[in-house]
Amino acid sequence: MAEQLNPFKIAQAQLDKAAKKLDLDPQMHAFLREPMRELSVSIPVKMDDGSTKIFRGFRVQYNDARGPTKGGIRFHPKETIDTVRALAAWMTWKCAVADIPYGGAKGGIICDTKHMSQGEIERLARGYIDQVAGFIGPEKDIPAPDVYTNPQIMAWMMDEYSKIKGYNVPGVITGKPIPLGGSLGRGDATAMGVVYTIREAAKVLGIDLNGATVSIQGYGNAGYNLARLLTNQGCKIIAVSDSKGGILHEGGLDWKAAKEHKDKTGSVIGFPGAKQLTNEECLITKCDFLVPAALENQITGKNANSIKAKVVAEAANGPVTPEADEILSSKGIFQIPDFLCNAGGVTVSYFEWVQNIYGYYWSEEDVYKRLDKKMTKAFYDVYEMAKKESVDNRTAAYMVAVNKVAEAVELRGWI
Ligand code: GLU
Repeated sequence: MAEQLNPFKIAQAQLDKAAKKLDLDPQMHAFLREPMRELSVSIPVKMDDGSTKIFRGFRVQYNDARGPTKGGIRFHPKETIDTVRALAAWMTWKCAVADIPYGGAKGGIICDTKHMSQGEIERLARGYIDQVAGFIGPEKDIPAPDVYTNPQIMAWMMDEYSKIKGYNVPGVITGKPIPLGGSLGRGDATAMGVVYTIREAAKVLGIDLNGATVSIQGYGNAGYNLARLLTNQGCKIIAVSDSKGGILHEGGLDWKAAKEHKDKTGSVIGFPGAKQLTNEECLITKCDFLVPAALENQITGKNANSIKAKVVAEAANGPVTPEADEILSSKGIFQIPDFLCNAGGVTVSYFEWVQNIYGYYWSEEDVYKRLDKKMTKAFYDVYEMAKKESVDNRTAAYMVAVNKVAEAVELRGWI
């Protein structure tokens, strides 16, 4: 039978595994398997050539038992409602594991920003907010950046929402530029969180980070920030890849020059002095830490057997399929599951929202100190659960998260 690659079906299968282990009440289980609310919208946008193009967009609020829902907005040509549902579910578990007082949500628009002007992107961003304004809000549902969205797009969205309300509402969106109420440290937050979990994984596994080898799949801003921050910890970046292919240098890549090469040519391939790899070969490079930092479904039943890393640190959302999970686990590979590994972004989003509401802003040092504390605590909550219940780290992360969400649902008297 072909492997299931529908992200929402995968998210449900992951939950089912944890629910069984938790002996979860069947009604609670049924409730947590589906999103609570979904909105699909049509967004008419005036294009530069005078035509009007209709875009489709979604916002899924998966579960708000623990607080307002939270999660990014993706701009992606292949966006589907099921991908958004899965990502909204993962946000729910992510906020619970990170112990921040939010539920989970996600938004998406089917579009290809690589072929749109800045003006068209701005009108699309504002048009999306016009459609979903009644559905979101600082006490209701708080969007943020994700794949192919950025602080400038968040600024337009916050501005549009504020215009509709008639006053400034900085807390409606996080990941904003600093002058508009963004938090110091938000730009690096996801990568920083990944680094903290890698640091703790290295400790419990007895791996010396000094000279530890790293392969990163996905070399956009997230991948580059990771390379920089992991190098600061003493790691050696030996391979990186983007959608067009990868590069390898066993002695250690000049990762800064590789990014400059990518910015100039559109890809890391052809970077002088490095061996050329396919994207696939980058994943199966022998290394201490493999960091998938691109999209979902990258490590599957087809290639999991060839993975030669000691640790897979899932910086992306949903990069490993359930079939691959089984294989990695049987090979003794330590996984830092996605919604633990990449929780740094939403954690600093939470700090940003708190600062917006408070109207009082923290230093970067303060942000990182608090982030480190949250990520380290989350790591050990999951690690201890995995040891206690003899389960893999993903199932353990689900068990920690589902316990918290189910407790909130029960306390509210929903079930
Ligand atoms: N899009 C990021 C994620 O998947 C951040 C979400 C947020 O900051 O709300 O975790």
